[in-house]
Amino acid sequence: MDLEDATKAAVEARGRAYAPYSGFRMGAAVLTSSGAVVPGSLVENVSLGLAMCAERVALFSTASAGERPTALVVASPRTSGALTFPCGACLQVGLELGGRELVVVAVDPDGTSDRALLGDLLPRGPHKG
Ligand SMILES: [Zn+2]
Repeated sequence: MDLEDATKAAVEARGRAYAPYSGFRMGAAVLTSSGAVVPGSLVENVSLGLAMCAERVALFSTASAGERPTALVVASPRTSGALTFPCGACLQVGLELGGRELVVVAVDPDGTSDRALLGDLLPRGPHKG
């Protein structure tokens, strides 16, 4: 599988988002070093602090499967007119598991996308090296 497959998986995962409170439907998918694709969906809770971003669901599932991420795709509505890249917490988890070279892709509902290296999105995040 490749980045295109991961993008399709992220869009499909967006459709499975559990977002009854925010209505901000987000999906994600990780492309792993073995070529697998691991999806994740936003999961909210009536106790709002328990919500988990789609990206971290996908990243944690990747680690649980014994895989390493090489790319992280986020499918989401735009935020203030701009493509929505992962939040700081998700970037930190991505840095831990995938390092500064992890490719991060944001795609909106129209299919417009952009990408960046994690190290450029979180240039000074703590990292074990
Ligand atoms: Zn996040």
